Amino acid sequence: MKYDYAILGGGAAGLSLALEMVAGPLADHSILIVEKDAKKTNDRTWCYWSDVPTRFDGIARHAWPRLHFQSGQLDLSWELAPLRYQMLRGLDFYEYARAELARHPVTFVQAVADVHDEPEGVTVLAGNQQYTAQWAFDSRIRPEDSLPVPSRYNFLKQHFTGWEIETSRPVFNPDTVTMFDLRTSQRGGVTFFYLLPFSPTNALLEYTLFSPEVLPPEEYEDALRGYLSSTLGLEEYRLLEREHGVIPMTDRPFPRRLGRHILAIGTRGGRVKPSTGYAFARIQRDSRRIVASLLQTGQPFAIPPDPPRYRFYDSLVLDVFAKEPQLGRPILASIFARNPAGRVLRFLDDRSTLREDLQILRAPEAGPFLRALGRRIVNQLPFRNRMR
Ligand SMILES: Cc1cc2nc3c(=O)[nH]c(=O)nc-3n(C[C@H](O)[C@H](O)[C@H](O)COP(=O)(O)OP(=O)(O)OC[C@H]3O[C@@H](n4cnc5c(N)ncnc54)[C@H](O)[C@@H]3O)c2cc1C
Repeated sequence: MKYDYAILGGGAAGLSLALEMVAGPLADHSILIVEKDAKKTNDRTWCYWSDVPTRFDGIARHAWPRLHFQSGQLDLSWELAPLRYQMLRGLDFYEYARAELARHPVTFVQAVADVHDEPEGVTVLAGNQQYTAQWAFDSRIRPEDSLPVPSRYNFLKQHFTGWEIETSRPVFNPDTVTMFDLRTSQRGGVTFFYLLPFSPTNALLEYTLFSPEVLPPEEYEDALRGYLSSTLGLEEYRLLEREHGVIPMTDRPFPRRLGRHILAIGTRGGRVKPSTGYAFARIQRDSRRIVASLLQTGQPFAIPPDPPRYRFYDSLVLDVFAKEPQLGRPILASIFARNPAGRVLRFLDDRSTLREDLQILRAPEAGPFLRALGRRIVNQLPFRNRMR
């Protein structure tokens, strides 16, 4: 069986790309999507922010017009307009994508996939079947991408456990998302609580760390219990759902071109922002660029690289988080103390102006960044590279 496009992995990146393809002039092109899982459970939630309507607004679980930052000394909130911070449940996204794609020449195969680059296209192996396609888009995450690379690059894990809870009395403000509550020990790495209220009595609370290794499960649970009782004064609540996740945070390069006809997408294609772990909005932007490349050049590789200045900032911030994690809290506090949240979010989305970059980067003391820059220069010296 021959297809125009083969997508390996039907998660966020694979399905987003397919949705982008069928939304425009490529709608009648044939697409094969090979995904090993049934994707019938809510295996994650995605949060992102936007100042324009997105195709997922209708299925968003919640949108927050205000953002809150708390570090102990600082307790700040902002109206985000024209931005809004919003959450999508994984299962709602998978169901929406399946329903939308069913109206187009899209074939789903549930199997473990492999792909081979051929002179005229690709061969995809899935189950016992063989398929061919002109182009392949690969979002299969390999275990080696989650391992530290013994090189000059930084590697941390963003790991978290979230509890969705229901309380008997109203305690939450469903208009305000708390992106950082840093009132917790920073001994194990940059550590914070992330609070997403859906109603006065219903919220998702996540205990999140940026550090090299994950914790034993009970440590996340103890921290969540402690925050609910000591910080929010809540002893009685019902646990509705649990979420645990690990997101790789690294400044190592991710090659996009995996063969003459194969493009890496999603996490595999380096779409996770190294300093924050956010990827969903970047995946949407990447999908639009891939489709534009196909339409304009007939091939998918004419996509712009990430702006070098953001790669540089990501690398410095990640280096400070990795080597001097105790400085994470004061750095974040000084950035939020001197900048409105909207500006910080645009910066984190790689969409700030140079002037805004300077306003953000000059907020914290320069020392940690200069030290990170020094380590970066030393690590890039030719003799260092030969030693590793
Ligand atoms: C729990 C969690 C929460 C997150 N929350 C956010 C958030 O709030 N905001 C944000 O911006 N980012 C978030 N991220 C980061 C990022 O957006 C997600 O990881 C996102 O799902 C990445 O998309 P992806 O397509 O690269 O990977 P996935 O969505 O994981 O898709 C990859 C797919 O490939 C399939 N697959 C793998 N190997 C094979 C194979 N051999 N054959 C066939 N199929 C295969 C997998 O089953 C999977 O479905 C989160 C990540 C996690 C883990």
